[in-house]
Amino acid sequence: MKKIITIVGARPQFIKAATLSRQFQILGVEELIIHTGQHFDTNMSDVFFDEMEIPKPAYQLEIHNLTHGAMTGRMLEGIEEILIKEKPDGVVVYGDTNSTLAGALAAAKLHIPLIHIEAGLRSFNMAMPEEINRILTDRISNVLFCPTATAVNNLKREGFDNIPVRIIKNGDVMQDAAMYYAAKAEQKSDVLKQIGLSKFILATIHRQENTDSTENLKNIIDGLNEINRQTPVVVPIHPRTRNILAQLNIIPEFKLIDPVGYFDMIMLLKSCQLVITDSGGVQKEAFFFGKHCITLREQTEWVELVENGFNILVGSDSKKLKDAFEFFKTKKSDFSINLYGKGKAAEIAAKEIVRL
Ligand code: UDP
Repeated sequence: MKKIITIVGARPQFIKAATLSRQFQILGVEELIIHTGQHFDTNMSDVFFDEMEIPKPAYQLEIHNLTHGAMTGRMLEGIEEILIKEKPDGVVVYGDTNSTLAGALAAAKLHIPLIHIEAGLRSFNMAMPEEINRILTDRISNVLFCPTATAVNNLKREGFDNIPVRIIKNGDVMQDAAMYYAAKAEQKSDVLKQIGLSKFILATIHRQENTDSTENLKNIIDGLNEINRQTPVVVPIHPRTRNILAQLNIIPEFKLIDPVGYFDMIMLLKSCQLVITDSGGVQKEAFFFGKHCITLREQTEWVELVENGFNILVGSDSKKLKDAFEFFKTKKSDFSINLYGKGKAAEIAAKEIVRL
């Protein structure tokens, strides 16, 4: 393949795409990036392009702040127009956002080979918009790069052995990012000086099932407030969560900071005592940096973290949250097990993509 179009739009996709962009450059592949605009603030988007040296998007669609249908529809229209003009040899999509699904639909209908990075993941919760996006994207892709054995098995269980698609287990590109950027983060980030805490817990909350349910959100904030009385909690707050807290007039007792760049995030992960999150990516990053994680969800796609005792699922139950916090206070774990590959996932994927 000579010319690839990469479609990104949300924060975790910038981080994942950075790893493949670097490999495409090494292999001399022409890559054009379409940024749908799903995330657009400087600290939700630009900072990642700058820090991770991701090529500037060739196209910016600036589509955001719409309902799921309107957003996906407009993205589909915009992406289709570009694909017809650019005639790429392949389209690469990442993860499970509306940008992923829109890109996948546009490419598949134009019969352009579609490559899904982070394929096969399932939460088995169809109320999650991400689950719908994952399932549909996988079903119309031509090449599925799976991060884990569980992801490969999920596809087999859904009958993917019977359809003409290539399934490749390459490992997790987020592990590549964590390994590659960790040294740079040490040099460039001063976030630890800024927050001025030697001992703290890092938490993130942005998943719709938590932010859009007042009850769930209040339970989580109550639980974090209580934990904060023992160990300070630091939350780089997602814009959606910040807006909802303001609407509900909830003022948490713990420390809220603006969303941070990837270098700062790495330093927070490296230095914290524990991670509490409803993010998909942050659950794994806790593991990459040797930290236990409490997940504010009922299910996770990253079941191997739970099975190995690194992660506890507590949903939005403040009692379970506090119990898990107490449990992890004294637990020691060996994080050296290889669950996500050894930082070669992007290299494996890029080499395969070039051969297609
Ligand atoms: N992240 C970041 N700054 C923040 C919060 C998260 O750089 O303030 C990174 C985090 O390290 C991870 C990615 O964003 O790599 C996860 O994105 P998010 O939680 O928004 O999405 P999800 O992984 O749940 O799809």
